[in-house]
Amino acid sequence: MSLWQQLPISHRYAALPQSFYTRVMPTPVDNPRWVTWNAPLAASFGLGETPDDIWQQIFSKGAMPDYFQPLAMKYAGHQFGAYNPALGDGRGLLFGAIADQQGRWFDVHLKGAGLTPYSRMGDGRAVLRSTIREYLGSEAMAALGNQTTWALGMMVSDTPVYRERVEQGALLIRLAETHIRFGHFEHFFYTGQHDDLRLLADKVVEWHFPELESSSASPREPVYLAMFEQIIKRTAGMIAFWQAYGFAHGVMNTDNMSILGQTFDYGPFAFLDDYDPHFICNHSDYQGRYAFDMQPGIGWWNLTALAQALTPLVDKGELETALQTYTVQLNQEYSRLIRSKLGLQQRRDGDSELCDALLKLMADNRVDYTLFFRRLSCLDQQPPELVTSLFENQAAAQPWLRQYLARCEQETDSTGQVRTVAQRCQLMRQVNPKYILRNYLAQQVIEAAEQGDFQPLEQLITVLRAPYDEQPQHQHYAELPPAWGKCLEISCSS
Ligand code: AMP
Ligand code: MG
Repeated sequence: MSLWQQLPISHRYAALPQSFYTRVMPTPVDNPRWVTWNAPLAASFGLGETPDDIWQQIFSKGAMPDYFQPLAMKYAGHQFGAYNPALGDGRGLLFGAIADQQGRWFDVHLKGAGLTPYSRMGDGRAVLRSTIREYLGSEAMAALGNQTTWALGMMVSDTPVYRERVEQGALLIRLAETHIRFGHFEHFFYTGQHDDLRLLADKVVEWHFPELESSSASPREPVYLAMFEQIIKRTAGMIAFWQAYGFAHGVMNTDNMSILGQTFDYGPFAFLDDYDPHFICNHSDYQGRYAFDMQPGIGWWNLTALAQALTPLVDKGELETALQTYTVQLNQEYSRLIRSKLGLQQRRDGDSELCDALLKLMADNRVDYTLFFRRLSCLDQQPPELVTSLFENQAAAQPWLRQYLARCEQETDSTGQVRTVAQRCQLMRQVNPKYILRNYLAQQVIEAAEQGDFQPLEQLITVLRAPYDEQPQHQHYAELPPAWGKCLEISCSS
């Protein structure tokens, strides 16, 4: 008997009207087999150390157990600024929601499952390289401490997938607290289905923000406004984290924005190597719409698109007022994160100038973003030259470092004692990762996996699960990237 059968399973999304989705069976593939399984995540649901064969039966024979009710979600969205009504999940199926051992519900979603009514020109499949990148991206993000979707496991098959070349197809089981995107709301707004829009808002509140439910049945408008405020807050928090940890999402279309502010749809994303604020990770993003330093503004743009879709439910003026809190919240959270990365817990005049000067110096001197902060966190054990050597012009870094160290001497602990270097550094190492998912590391494990060797993938996942730990045996994962690894081109093709 499959362990899945014993899990609490909800089909709350399938219970919505037909306008929300289409029921679709996955299209079988040849010889599906597991290549990786997220045992720690599985354990939180009471699933086994190794995957059971129910998924193989589903994908080889098309045999669907009755506790799953696969469906493709309908949504729309703004892609690169243009509204596209003809979206919907073109290659992913929602199988239901399962509860973890704490009783929290997670959608079970299968990416690469075959054609759906929303596949448009696509084939409904996902290739191995992009599936590995999503797996790695979500594991890395979760371990760093940001909200994200999760990868439970990955299968490959012998069914070829045609992109620029013939590639191996893969299937990813993704878990997420929700698969509802900004684009779900946009779909019902632009098609004039305002009863469904209202129902969607009611369900989002019921499932994801129950604390906002008012005791009386009416009026609903303040509840919907409070829901929007929560979405703003979470989105601002997510993007502040991206900016502070050097993460470029790559395709911030509104159909890739989770209403829970969780990093969603890992496509051509990248963590920065050198600090380049204008970095564009998506080779197909010719205008740089989703460049690294555009992300906060795009978050606002996307929330504006969501606000537009909520106008049948909430007064426009109220939505606009709520939107104004976005930038304030994002800046506050970003500043909190950067201050803790610098080990500055108390506010002092001149702090923001110190931080701005640093970012400018880092950009001018092509400094590795992650290594800089980690080395700054190790000044109790290592000489300052290791920090300045990261700068092209090392002399230019020295005045900043002197000023920073003088500023650190003003930090006191709760008893008024000056905080020691060791105390400061110990705290900083908890927020400045030693290990980050660099593009070249992902590329190396992808190349091995394409040759059938998944050991390097397992190894990299193990390292990324403890990004703040020293892990001296894995030091080579923490080195500067090789020159070839800095200029890999990642396209939207996936
Ligand atoms: P993405 O850029 O991956 O977020 O995808 C945008 C839209 O295109 C979504 O509706 C996807 O489901 C759909 N899509 C992406 N790739 C494929 C594919 N290979 N086959 C069918 N639909 C796809
Ligand atoms: Mg998407």
